[in-house]
Amino acid sequence: MLDEWYQGGTPIISLPYDVNMSVDPSKLSIDIYPTKVLVTKGREIEVNEETVAVAIRMVELMREAEGIGLAAPQVGLSWRLFVAHVPVHEDDPADPEIPCSSMDYQVFFNPKITEFSKDMEPYDEGCLSLPDLTGEVRRPSTVTMRALDIDGNPVELQATGLMARCWQHEIDHLDGIMILDKMSQMSRLKNRSLIKSYKRAAKG
Ligand code: ZN
Repeated sequence: MLDEWYQGGTPIISLPYDVNMSVDPSKLSIDIYPTKVLVTKGREIEVNEETVAVAIRMVELMREAEGIGLAAPQVGLSWRLFVAHVPVHEDDPADPEIPCSSMDYQVFFNPKITEFSKDMEPYDEGCLSLPDLTGEVRRPSTVTMRALDIDGNPVELQATGLMARCWQHEIDHLDGIMILDKMSQMSRLKNRSLIKSYKRAAKG
């Protein structure tokens, strides 16, 4: 069924850009807003030696930065790929029907949210590409996502709580959307000078 979905879905694009581009994972680092890639819609990619090596490096960068998620556009690649690790918290339900955390890191290629719950929960989010900034973003609390895992196998997974929020935040990155575009008016005002300072730093 999942195989059917994937074959029937958007074809995996293998553009010359990906083929010719030989990314050196060790040279990747987390970019700070504003950059062009951060506001550009990423393209679907194949799961191959190169893209998996990039994913592994992204997990390393995410851990170093003590983040819970990192999307390819944040390391300068316009690819539909993100990594996440929302660690298990002591307050998590013991045997949840829908998980809100994971035991280990996760890697998702070409992810797509196929179902959103109807509720909208506010929460203060941060972003590794927006240092020191937090802003209130309202999102559905539970989602279903389809993606390819690190072995290239199609998966369909559900998440709730912080993990659902994290996945939505990272998939937004793949569409060139940042929390700056979604946060409340109050958060926008609160962070006005910080946002200006990123822009100044990028110019200087
Ligand atoms: Zn982010």
